[in-house]
Amino acid sequence: MIKFLDLKLLNSRFEAQFQDAYNRFIDSGYYILGNEVKTFQNAFAKYCGAKHCIGTGNGLDALVLIFQGYKTLGKLKEGDEVIVPANTYIASILSVIHTGLTPVFVEPDQETFNISLSQIKNAITSRTKAILTVHLYGQLADMQTINTIARENKLLVIEDAAQAHGAQNGEGIKAGNFGDAAGFSFYPSKNLGALGDGGAVTTNDEELATIISKLRNYGTSSKYVNDLIGYNSRLDELQASFLNVKLPMLDSDNLKRITLAKFYQASIKNSKIVLPKVNDNFSHVYHQFVLRLDTRNDFQSYLKSNQVETLIYYPIAPHKQKALIKYKMLDLPITVAIHNKVISIPMSPVLPQTDADKIVELINAY
Ligand SMILES: *Cc1c(COP(=O)(O)O)cnc(C)c1O
Repeated sequence: MIKFLDLKLLNSRFEAQFQDAYNRFIDSGYYILGNEVKTFQNAFAKYCGAKHCIGTGNGLDALVLIFQGYKTLGKLKEGDEVIVPANTYIASILSVIHTGLTPVFVEPDQETFNISLSQIKNAITSRTKAILTVHLYGQLADMQTINTIARENKLLVIEDAAQAHGAQNGEGIKAGNFGDAAGFSFYPSKNLGALGDGGAVTTNDEELATIISKLRNYGTSSKYVNDLIGYNSRLDELQASFLNVKLPMLDSDNLKRITLAKFYQASIKNSKIVLPKVNDNFSHVYHQFVLRLDTRNDFQSYLKSNQVETLIYYPIAPHKQKALIKYKMLDLPITVAIHNKVISIPMSPVLPQTDADKIVELINAY
């Protein structure tokens, strides 16, 4: 069976370094917000080109803390509208709901899967206060245009960069440094993945960074002094030590993903299948390689019976989930069509070329 993503193989490359990091961690006797977290925060801020990085418990919390931080600063208030792509992972939308804000679902462009720029303009009302952009599947959204729209309408821009670590535009600006703040996830399967949960916020806004550093740690300014009604969502010290091992390999791993994607783009030839559209100006780090076809479910069974594992990101649109039942009447045909047609094929920096060859051969024979 060709696995969709062989995480064990992916991480086995770092095993000796993970052991060293673990020994360092045990020897330090320091388990929460220690040197490993500090080192990672500095390294990841520098990597993204942002002034600040604050480690969090996971990617959802990173986004929640951004919105809560802006509420604390008085830049957002209960009920303010936040524009979100309707075809994102549900976490993006939950972060808006959990902080008492109102998500406004906007259709994507069906070719790039990223938020439709014309639809953003139509969705703006006097209550709109922010845009939450998602670099879905690893492809940067058109941040230049989004930032222009945001400036014209005095909106905050928050990036959900959970799928786009290291994606950069032609000018070398990276995900995490395009908007007012960005949320990252280090869930194991992400392009930069820990061996458990982890997340981070990046921002150039010093005030926001200070507030989020407090909010993630019970709202404390110093031990047992609570300034704010905070949360417990700290990046774990041991996970930070593993991330310190993996961060230096992120660019070369992304390059391997891009190389595999180019191979797929050049070799998959089947009139039933639509390949992902890459906007040349906006870089793609291929968190997912996503095909579209009308007979998606049949295609998935076909590949499965031929020993190739695939996944569907995502099978049900957020507004069609039971949890978001109050949004079920929204008319979002492009989003629904995407959820019915997409399928992700194996994409990883450690997929053997012989496996990639076999995958292409099977797809072309379908
Ligand atoms: C993974 C992911 C998240 C949430 O990250 P967790 O660490 O699992 O909380 C948020 N948004 C998107 C787009 C994601 O892919």
